[in-house]
Amino acid sequence: MALNLVVLGPPGAGKGTQADRLAKAKGIPKISTGDMLREAVRAGTEIGLRAKAIMESGQLVSDDVIIGVVRERLDKPDAQRGFILDGFPRTVAQARALDTLMNGRDPLIVVDIVVPEAALVERLTSRLVCSTCGTNAEGVSVSAMDTTPCVRCGGQLHKRSDDSEAVVLERLKVYRRDTQPLVDYYRSRPTFRAVNGAQPMNRVYEDLAEAVDSAASGGALGGAVR
Ligand code: AMP
Repeated sequence: MALNLVVLGPPGAGKGTQADRLAKAKGIPKISTGDMLREAVRAGTEIGLRAKAIMESGQLVSDDVIIGVVRERLDKPDAQRGFILDGFPRTVAQARALDTLMNGRDPLIVVDIVVPEAALVERLTSRLVCSTCGTNAEGVSVSAMDTTPCVRCGGQLHKRSDDSEAVVLERLKVYRRDTQPLVDYYRSRPTFRAVNGAQPMNRVYEDLAEAVDSAASGGALGGAVR
């Protein structure tokens, strides 16, 4: 059975890091709409040009555009054996469109990484990421940013332009308004799980992997945060 996974959670919950690790372990692609949009901005494509200002203000790119991007990506051969979606869906309209795209595929598993909002602002405003591969730099301070290369690819670390405090607060507001309702959209499904994201990264990963296995095998843990 293909693992078709959606990782939900607020900005800064660790979705990208966890999705990356699980995708490698399972040998399936991680599909991050944020990474795809940042790449489009860098490459100066039409979508990138339209998305740039929206992303910098912490708002969401339109459903039509992002659904089109995901539809094309899920059609690629490497996504037929499974995928991990990070940052999509972000609205109920996107979740409905994804359900339609899943026709004829194995059912979606949805895991929500739950982190209290108070922890997120600090995490995001102090976050450094690689400007080449997008990996988060763990334990590197801003003052050491220029002299510490990315552990994965040796690239230059930087602060994402939307990780400033003002934009972070806006992104969290947008999350509460547009994305949080998705948890209710998925919660009643037997393949929905929630994990506690306010733990050390390795623990979150263990819980995520266990939640995925239990959902895939039809376990009845339900949506309780463990
Ligand atoms: P992320 O890297 O997931 O935090 O995404 C960065 C930014 O890209 C978001 O703040 C949005 O502006 C845009 N974005 C990423 N994914 C989506 C999506 N599914 N729907 C709309 N906008 C998105």
